[in-house]
Amino acid sequence: MKIKPLRFVFPRLFHLCDNKEVSVDESGLWVDGNWEWVFNWRRELLKREKGSVEALTGFLSHHIPCAGKTDGWTWKASKEGVYTTKSAYSVMAATKNVVPAAQDVNETLAAVWETPAPFKVRVTAWRCLRNRLATCDNLIKRNVAISTEESACNGCVSGVETVDHLFLLCPKVEQVWDGIQKWLGFSTVRPHNITHHFTSFTHLGRRKRSEKFLKTVWTCTIWLLWKRRNESRFDGKGWEVQMLIQEIKGRLWS
Ligand SMILES: [Zn+2]
Repeated sequence: MKIKPLRFVFPRLFHLCDNKEVSVDESGLWVDGNWEWVFNWRRELLKREKGSVEALTGFLSHHIPCAGKTDGWTWKASKEGVYTTKSAYSVMAATKNVVPAAQDVNETLAAVWETPAPFKVRVTAWRCLRNRLATCDNLIKRNVAISTEESACNGCVSGVETVDHLFLLCPKVEQVWDGIQKWLGFSTVRPHNITHHFTSFTHLGRRKRSEKFLKTVWTCTIWLLWKRRNESRFDGKGWEVQMLIQEIKGRLWS
């Protein structure tokens, strides 16, 4: 059911409910093959509260329990209905309001400088993580006049070009990360936020490669994606996913 829990939809009734801990199985009974909900209230209901019960009963009439099946909890974020850390992370990462604490951001930024990549490469990755690159959304924030057409991503021509889109969410860029993860031999749930992506990429791949190596791969990828974006936007040049992945592999400074 894609609805709020009933205790939030009918807070007054939940408050008046005699036993808030009962399972569905304990909330009614089968009468001649038909399920009937049974409610116990702490006191006699007022007229308007009875109206709420009617609304609740009307809603519940569309949800009949299955006879012969055990009542239990299901974790909706995974296909199997079972809680996993990966699925929980996926839910959190997809929530745009989840912003890492300032200390985490600083730690992430410091990590970029630990890579052996040339200075210009590290600066690009650092500016990407600080959202200081001249992406179209940032230029618009600085009152640079850009038309709606010009502000769209050059790769897929959909939506305003932002750091998260340009380096993570653009379909072509997703293929780049897929290819890199395949090469490195690990898979991660890709967050929709660039800082979270850096953290998850460099931490989750640690069993396969050293953290320093993963940071270098990430930093190099960001730099090359930004290069390709500029060549595409200003020189009209196209680029191929597999060729970019090969270039990343060839540029890993040791
Ligand atoms: Zn795009």
